[in-house]
Amino acid sequence: MPAKKRCQFQDETPCNQAVLRIVGKCPHCVHEFCGNHRMPEHHKCLNLDNCRQQAFDKNKAKLESERTVASKMATA
Ligand SMILES: [Zn+2]
Ligand SMILES: [Zn+2]
Repeated sequence: MPAKKRCQFQDETPCNQAVLRIVGKCPHCVHEFCGNHRMPEHHKCLNLDNCRQQAFDKNKAKLESERTVASKMATA
């Protein structure tokens, strides 16, 4: 039987709490964490910048498409 997985968050001291099943896995860096550290912000996720950038790009694209629609309506 494999040993229980431990949270991969390491600061000055490793966390070592048991990993949460399923939701403990970070989709951005593919490491696994306990309930305290599973959010990208909480484990200093390596891909936190990417994650933020994606959200930013998505939001920007949305705003731009809304603006395009608005300007089309204004000229119509
Ligand atoms: Zn932890
Ligand atoms: Zn992560």
